[in-house]
Amino acid sequence: MPISVAIVGSGPSGFYTAEALAKSDTDCQIDIIERLPAPHGLIRYGVAPDHQTTKNVSRAFDKTAARDEVRFYGNVDVGGDLSLDDLRAMYDAVVIAIGSPEDNKLGIPGEDKDGVIGSAAFVGWYNGHPDFVDLDPNLDTANVCVIGNGNVAIDIARLLVKTRGELSPSDITNDALDAIQASSITDVYMLGRRGPVEAKFTNVELREMGKLEICVPQIDGGIIPDAVPEDMEMSDRDRRLRDKNLDTLREFAPRAADELPKRVHFQFFAAPREILGGDKVEGIRMERTEVVDGRAVGTGEFFEIETSLVLPAVGYRSGGLEGLPFNDDWGVAISDEGRAGDGLYVVGWIKRGPTGVIGTNRPDGQQAAKQILEDIAAGSKPGREALEAAIAKNGGRIVSYDDWLTLDAHEKAAAREGAPREKLITVAAMLGVLDGA
Ligand code: NAP
Repeated sequence: MPISVAIVGSGPSGFYTAEALAKSDTDCQIDIIERLPAPHGLIRYGVAPDHQTTKNVSRAFDKTAARDEVRFYGNVDVGGDLSLDDLRAMYDAVVIAIGSPEDNKLGIPGEDKDGVIGSAAFVGWYNGHPDFVDLDPNLDTANVCVIGNGNVAIDIARLLVKTRGELSPSDITNDALDAIQASSITDVYMLGRRGPVEAKFTNVELREMGKLEICVPQIDGGIIPDAVPEDMEMSDRDRRLRDKNLDTLREFAPRAADELPKRVHFQFFAAPREILGGDKVEGIRMERTEVVDGRAVGTGEFFEIETSLVLPAVGYRSGGLEGLPFNDDWGVAISDEGRAGDGLYVVGWIKRGPTGVIGTNRPDGQQAAKQILEDIAAGSKPGREALEAAIAKNGGRIVSYDDWLTLDAHEKAAAREGAPREKLITVAAMLGVLDGA
């Protein structure tokens, strides 16, 4: 009897786990279970729509899904349609690969005002995630404040100032594309609580900000150090990368504010203290900071930016899953290097927090596969058969990988000129295509 493995979540960490198990010498039956009809998680719904080459990894996932050992069960909600305990009773091993879909909070007054939208929701909206299609952000504002200096913050800033011509070849949804083009946005503030040396965005992403058609980067050159200070501890690679960021920012410094119609302002040493306004955002109050022992410390000097849209991009967390040992303070599962219980494993962001690139999940998946094969000598639970019976009993509509390929072809055929696809943005629309509605 093969070892039956259920993988919950079909993003990179889930697929890499499936790949590693399928390529092992042990006979495994691997089922990838996904809440949405469409697979690929962060690749489809997180990676920026204008970074299509990053999305090419989904071709490798297609190959994994096509293997005899692997089956995809889309439109099945673990925690809704069936519980984690149900799944553990059915499968020899269950791997949780559900990522970190929730936003970290700023923890400042006014954060719940209308017009503060976390990056998970905002990125989900322009990427056509069914949970966020109704977001309808108010883009009728000259200034937008993006909080954070990571790659997500820079993705958001870039998409807000790109032209139709620049965005059209991406897979941003038509709705988001039209909304951004109709917006009154002229100035995007990228607000970092620490300095240029500590910024987390990578150099390729930063350089893109200097090559935009109608938007010029703005930075006060006086705050950019010549190099990363010698006494800052980091790897040589990290030091090189950060020095490159400083070089790029230095190139931005002389550019004139009126060179192009729009601007992205890199403002460092600025921490958010309060979101201003009534029910709706009218501005943000920031405090100047200095970095002491690596931490941003307020100086007591404040300033305000008028805006009706504040987009915190300050990292993600997981909300957990009933039955999964979970550290609510950190927003990650409790595990011993990925082992979270008898026959229970975690991989990817739910295991180690939201860091790293797509490829970082590969060794994670390989490690989980190794652990499963070390811990479980032979299969003893029914797996797939029991899952299918449970879903049939609930009257659920499973979306298979072949179904997904049908949706994929439909989306590609519906693409605007030059774009890779036009996403189906609701579950009903996806099921409608499959069932001929
Ligand atoms: P991130 O890289 O951890 O950046 C989070 C940013 O938010 C940091 O600048 C952090 O500042 C700031 N921050 C956190 N709490 C804050 C607060 N209370 N007030 C003000 N600022 C605050 O996270 P991310 O941008 O969400 O990205 C997640 C992961 O995905 C990263 O590994 C990222 O590289 C990756 N990613 C990669 C790409 C790409 O390769 N193109 C694209 C998108 C995402 P401190 O440093 O001071 O804490």
